[in-house]
Amino acid sequence: MKLKAIIDRIKQETGLDEQSILELIDKKQKELDNLITKEGAAILVAKEFGIKLEFPNKQRLQIRNLVPGLKNVSVVGRVFKITEPIEFEKNGNKGKLVKLYVGDETGYFILTLWNDQVSYVEEKLIKLGDVIEVKGALVKENMYGEIEINLGKYGLIKKSNASLPSLEELEKLHFQSYKKANIVELKPGYYEVSGMIVHIFKSNYIFEFCPICKSRIEAHYCKQHGNVEPNYSIILNTLLDDETQTIRVVFFNETASKLLGMDASEFLGIEDKESFLREKILGKEVIVKGKVRKNPIFNRLELLADSVEYLNIDKATNELASVLL
Ligand SMILES: [Zn+2]
Repeated sequence: MKLKAIIDRIKQETGLDEQSILELIDKKQKELDNLITKEGAAILVAKEFGIKLEFPNKQRLQIRNLVPGLKNVSVVGRVFKITEPIEFEKNGNKGKLVKLYVGDETGYFILTLWNDQVSYVEEKLIKLGDVIEVKGALVKENMYGEIEINLGKYGLIKKSNASLPSLEELEKLHFQSYKKANIVELKPGYYEVSGMIVHIFKSNYIFEFCPICKSRIEAHYCKQHGNVEPNYSIILNTLLDDETQTIRVVFFNETASKLLGMDASEFLGIEDKESFLREKILGKEVIVKGKVRKNPIFNRLELLADSVEYLNIDKATNELASVLL
């Protein structure tokens, strides 16, 4: 708080004029052998009048600045998603966990509560929409490249009254909107990128799924459900290049059908799928919206497409022309 603001506040509360207040401040400073600043002396004078000064919050740590490996961190955010508690058994011991998605305007982290800590949620001490401060946190990265926080041994959670975006704003910001970005800028999260399909990775391209349990099966046989008439899905693994970098993009089911202009059963009937794909999509420019995550096996980022559109060259050049003219 600046000296001027403190003086104004004392003026308001006491009716003294500025000159008198300045004298009081000087006196206080001398009393303390000039060991404190004018501002510090002004705070003490205000205190003697019983005036409560409000200090702006210490600058809060922005969530985007959390990096794996940080220990004993204090961070504030709003809980905008809580998963169902999961019970599990490990080495004969029963355990429980729940995950909270906690965000601010710059990012989000996943707070994992284990065993007894799950009661924070079960007893509604923490609810959806609450702003919380997590203290004594350990920051790490989960297998999908998202920031995850565990409470350390001395960690704790308390409610905070920091002012943060609303629940709806956070959901929209982190889960329902795709940020436009260059491939080189991608991190785990939701993005829109455009680029050229420069490679199609060889595979069977089409896979069988059990119509009952939806798991991947082979030769019309599900381990759980025996012989079934499978559903088919197309999976295309491609490489997208936007000249800043490349990323693997996976088109599955509807997005793959959209790209090919046909459904899985039609694609199934095509004999030389490889040539067909080369002809149809290789070298084409597309706009892809989807989720970027780290592939847990290969430890690299990949984009799972939620939607895809061919980049309409005419539209793009028209837009450019309208900007330039
Ligand atoms: Zn099945």
